Amino acid sequence: MPPKRVIGTISLAGCFGCHMSILDIDLKFLELIELVEFNRSPLTDIKTFTKHCDIGIIEGGCCNDENVHTLISFRKNCDILVSLGECAIMGGLPALRNKIDLYDCLKEAYLNVPSSVPGNQMIPHHPDLPKILDRIYPCHEIVKIDHFIPGCPPCDEIIWKSLTNLITGKSETIPYPFLKYD
Ligand code: SF4
Repeated sequence: MPPKRVIGTISLAGCFGCHMSILDIDLKFLELIELVEFNRSPLTDIKTFTKHCDIGIIEGGCCNDENVHTLISFRKNCDILVSLGECAIMGGLPALRNKIDLYDCLKEAYLNVPSSVPGNQMIPHHPDLPKILDRIYPCHEIVKIDHFIPGCPPCDEIIWKSLTNLITGKSETIPYPFLKYD
């Protein structure tokens, strides 16, 4: 039996819906873990790479410097990098702020928000907090991405077919109805 392929996954500026969609493959997970092992991933709670990965799956784009650092680390530690879902591919919903000046955005979120305490409003800042970027960056604008799996989230079927194609080297066609760009 060939050695198991190693997979890492990460959620950057996303809602975790794409990871939930990975879990939607349900019983096929039993087949999947015969073929792969998961390394760094929220699914394993392994927070740093303990071995080089064959495949890295990225959910979400980059909204802060920590996202950029994590993405670069995935590029270094994974042979194949996959953008999973619209947030990773195009910025997704978080990119709605791309047309708004960053300070205006922070002002609206922290100073003008109705729940702020009058006289006590502040924009959070601390050396330990990640620095917010001027806009949301899709992953391929930061590092080379090898494959894109569209959808918000991509459905379990397209995730399963794409993953098995990557793992086994087959190129099974993904039926058009599974490709959703919304
Ligand atoms: Fe969530 Fe959709 Fe973004 Fe996936 S693509 S992280 S489901 S908003």
